[in-house]
Amino acid sequence: MFITKYLMHQTPTIPSGYIAAGSDIRDLFHLFQKAPVGMVIYKGPAFLIEYINEKTLEIWDRKKEEVLGKPLFDCFPELIGSDIEKILKNVFTRGEKFRTKEYETSFYRSGKLDTGYFDFSAEPMQNAEGMITGVMIVIAEITGQVIARKKIEEREIRLLHTKEQLELSIKAGRIGIWHWDVKRNILTWSKEQKEMFGVGETAFKGKAEDFYNFVVPEDLQKVIRESKPDAAKQDSQYEFRIRRKDGTVRWIHSRSKTFFDLKNEPEYMTGINIDITEQKTSEERIKESEEKQRHLSRTLEKQVKERTEELIEKNRQLNEAQQIAQLGSWGWDLTTDKVTWSEEMYRIYGYGDERFPLTFEKAIERMEHVDAEKVKQRMRQHVVEAMSVFKERGLKEFNNLPSEYSIKLPNGSKKILRGVGKIILAGDGKISKVIGTVQDISEHKKAEEELQLSEEKFMKAFQASPAGITLTNTVTGKWIDVNESFLKITGYTKEEVIGHNSEELELIDKEEREKILERIKAPGSLRNYEVRVKNKNGKILWVLNSMEKLVIKGETCILTILYDISERKKAEEEIRIVNQQLEKQNDFVETILNSSTNGVTVYDKDLRFVKVNHAAEKFLNKRNEELIGKKITEVFPEIRDSFSYQNMLKALAGEYIHVNNYFSAIANRYFDSHLIPLKDASGKIYGLLTSGHDITESIKQMEELRKALEADKLKSDFIKMASHELKTPITSIKGYVQLLLAMVKEKEEEMSLSPLFVKSSLVNIEKQVNRLTRLMSELLDLSKIESGQLQLNREEFSMNELVIDVVQDVLYTNPRHQINVYHDFASTVWADKDRIGQVIVNLLTNAIKYSPQADKIDVMIHQPEKNSVAISVKDFGIGIDKKDHEKIFDRFYRTEGYNEQTYPGFGIGLFIAKETVKRHDGVITVESEKGRGSTFTFTLPVTTKS
Ligand code: ADP
Repeated sequence: MFITKYLMHQTPTIPSGYIAAGSDIRDLFHLFQKAPVGMVIYKGPAFLIEYINEKTLEIWDRKKEEVLGKPLFDCFPELIGSDIEKILKNVFTRGEKFRTKEYETSFYRSGKLDTGYFDFSAEPMQNAEGMITGVMIVIAEITGQVIARKKIEEREIRLLHTKEQLELSIKAGRIGIWHWDVKRNILTWSKEQKEMFGVGETAFKGKAEDFYNFVVPEDLQKVIRESKPDAAKQDSQYEFRIRRKDGTVRWIHSRSKTFFDLKNEPEYMTGINIDITEQKTSEERIKESEEKQRHLSRTLEKQVKERTEELIEKNRQLNEAQQIAQLGSWGWDLTTDKVTWSEEMYRIYGYGDERFPLTFEKAIERMEHVDAEKVKQRMRQHVVEAMSVFKERGLKEFNNLPSEYSIKLPNGSKKILRGVGKIILAGDGKISKVIGTVQDISEHKKAEEELQLSEEKFMKAFQASPAGITLTNTVTGKWIDVNESFLKITGYTKEEVIGHNSEELELIDKEEREKILERIKAPGSLRNYEVRVKNKNGKILWVLNSMEKLVIKGETCILTILYDISERKKAEEEIRIVNQQLEKQNDFVETILNSSTNGVTVYDKDLRFVKVNHAAEKFLNKRNEELIGKKITEVFPEIRDSFSYQNMLKALAGEYIHVNNYFSAIANRYFDSHLIPLKDASGKIYGLLTSGHDITESIKQMEELRKALEADKLKSDFIKMASHELKTPITSIKGYVQLLLAMVKEKEEEMSLSPLFVKSSLVNIEKQVNRLTRLMSELLDLSKIESGQLQLNREEFSMNELVIDVVQDVLYTNPRHQINVYHDFASTVWADKDRIGQVIVNLLTNAIKYSPQADKIDVMIHQPEKNSVAISVKDFGIGIDKKDHEKIFDRFYRTEGYNEQTYPGFGIGLFIAKETVKRHDGVITVESEKGRGSTFTFTLPVTTKS
């Protein structure tokens, strides 16, 4: 140490190469050589080992010739970059000394990187000019000491730790410590032991029996046995259970040691108790879980079985699925060239239920020749590629790229198949097999081709359409494609349009554009929307716009179809103007029409009211709004059967109809009517115009005039007749009177006047006078009836009796006739007996008068209905023509054609009869046919009930 110290402090600056010069120095170096510390001198910045002593060589474990004259870091390359290098360089460049103790460093020695501890110093060595020429190191290895010390330190720490751990264990591990003074039977328990046994700090009495009290009865014998001090067995270990005061049972592990005295008698025993309840329970749990495990494995076994079955089922399903997906699978063992096919493979390849062993050649038999060659080549190529992939990357699988090929079945049909494969490497690095799937994609292909075809069609339609068509991307809102017509309509070129939108080109008014976008949003389509478009030249066009959202190649687009309707719009505008003018004209025509008194109606070809003027409204008694647009048959259903409807149909067929005296059932008036078919320029009938002039009033006037004229004629006839009728009896009376006078004059002297002649002459005169009287009374009655002064003198009498009386009276003057009276009903009436009698006389005298060839008359009294009596007079004479039946009851009416001489009369008898019966609330009727006689019947109300 001294030397080291000395050297460290006293080492003179020895210039390099100077060592061997002086003997003192030599001695000094000899000393160094044998020094118990390592000494080294490095020279120059490369730290050439210029001097090294034996101790250093020993420390370094090197031979002198290995290191001397060599740079330090060549000998110890492991030190490059280490702190040692830094320290040495620092000393060499700055001239600062360095000293350290217990410096830990590692370098190669005895063949391994060894770590050692060193006390060392490094000092600069300077030449006479004070220039640093090298570094001197003094080094002492203290590795042994340091390690020994470190070990001690470590042990101490470990001991400390153990102690701490023990304490901790006692506390945390609930280790109870006990001490038993055997001789005196004093048992001492540690705090932890007491806690373990559940007794309070002071509660434990301290005898062995007190401990035994805790032990459960089942374990007590064992505990006594084990805890008995035994010279042969100093150490004892056992487990037992205790029951604590609170009733809980704990497992205790006990370990004890017995100490004996010099006489070899047990002196004391000391031990520890550990509560192992948790451990025990966990053991039990483990047991349980083991049991569970066994159960589980049994279940697993079962499950494996089930899974296997499931797998088989799945395989079956896979087969089915393959069948459904038309997916076949195959495997090819390259070593055996055996090919396996799934069921579906056979089906795809058209083998049906036929099964046979397969080789690669056989498997590709049905492929088209070209395809088969390709497959073979591809397979070879894949194998080569796979091999290299396996080698280079160590992969175990190689996926072949999918390929499509076609096969030809014996029936000539073709199928397109799509195959994928996988090459699998075996453990020995060779290719073991190739597997793959094949799918029949014929349908898919067909569909694809059809799709393409339809797309082509769409494109053709798109291009050829006369309508402008655009495709717009919904996301960007820009045009993707437009057709020629669109460009023609808008005037832009394709380049100006694609990638832009209508807003940019100001094609559509902004507001309109937004409206359209809004409208297409929800329904996804827009139909025939009219919009104004401004083309490139600024010309405004009207366009009919339809839009539809659709998906093209996965992208949502809007297909817009535009029709240029500007021409149509223009035409519409022109029509509007023309219509306006027409309307004006119409107004004018309407004014004229409405001021006409003629009823004017225009119908369309279905006879719907088109135009009805004011006069027609009045006639039809309906307002315009009730008529226009409706069919005439809807408004007046009754017209269908009418004459006027027939005429309308005729007019619609093209006939011009004029009816000058037409009675309209609808209007209840007479018209002078014109029905005019309305024809268009080509002559086609499109409607009907009717014009009616109301002639009801003039017809009425004419009728009255006619009646007046007729009455005049009747009157003059009557006067002629009456004068004739009245002249006849008077002439006759005058004749008889003159004859009587002449006979009285001639036979004055002879008195030869026969009384019979006188009598017959007087009877004739009376007859004529009666006739005159009757005529006169009829005339009187007529005038009374006309002036409304006919008086009735009512009385109650028997109708049957009256008939008998009258018949007798008539028979008195007409004795030749046979009159039969039939009483079917007996009744009394409340009536004017004379006048009713006169009615019956009239009927009987007519029956006689108009039956020149017959002399039989039947009179019937009967009951036509309740409370009524009827008297019928039936003759077998000339009869009455049907057309005269009504008229004969009119005043002065006499049927034509009869010689007035033959059937004299006034034509007022039946008139008076009718009026008389009417006044009695009865009716008079006739039943007759020409040449077949007549029956006149009149009725009267009866007063008696029958
Ligand atoms: P007239 O004095 O002419 O008989 P009436 O009023 O009694 O007048 O009869 C009117 C007409 O009716 C007669 O002119 C005659 O043509 C016809 N007539 C009436 N009674 C008969 C009858 N029983 N048979 C045929 N014609 C009759």
